[in-house]
Amino acid sequence: MDLFKNDTPTIKEILPDVWLLKSKALANEAEIVQDLERVISQAPLRHMMTPMGFAMSAAMTNCGPLGWVSDRKGYRYDAIDPTSDKPWPAMPDSFLALATQAASAAGFNDFVPDACLINQYKVGASMGLHQDKNEVDFEQPIVSVSLGLPAVFLFGGLLRSDKPHKVPLAHGDVLVWGGQSRLNFHGIRDVKASQNGALNTHLSQYLNHHRVNLTLRKAA
Ligand code: FE
Repeated sequence: MDLFKNDTPTIKEILPDVWLLKSKALANEAEIVQDLERVISQAPLRHMMTPMGFAMSAAMTNCGPLGWVSDRKGYRYDAIDPTSDKPWPAMPDSFLALATQAASAAGFNDFVPDACLINQYKVGASMGLHQDKNEVDFEQPIVSVSLGLPAVFLFGGLLRSDKPHKVPLAHGDVLVWGGQSRLNFHGIRDVKASQNGALNTHLSQYLNHHRVNLTLRKAA
């Protein structure tokens, strides 16, 4: 047990229009974890193919009216899960409430996400620098919820070559970005195994061995 662990939620603008809400998801952690496990059982995680034909390092699924998909035809949002040919699972109320509250705390009062991309990283998985730009309205922010294993989030600039800032993210942290940073490049460094066998949460063995990221967006 880490006697010095501080789970008190705080909010800080760490870069222009980038807000870190430490431990924000912990208040409703049990419901969020339960909803996550249900969504994954309904729409299993899969390694999507990049347009270039490579399998992505993170496994992905979605919930909500629209899901982000990648295949040889490109990146896009689709209401239908290509694996099942059925709609994506509904967006859980716990995800929606967390995302709207976090966005509002960061000054985005009208945010109602219609898409939640779920990325699962095993130890060693990563996400290269990229921009989120398949959405229609760049006035709307991105809300990113970290669950499970900690990771180093890389937050760069408008050019891929801009040197990224390193933002450590832990279980329960929420990052919101928009405004002048909305189209900045970002990615995730190789995820490491938990240090000293430390638990991220007592609620889920799964989350003690994986990083899961929920990315909530207004896509359409
Ligand atoms: Fe992204």
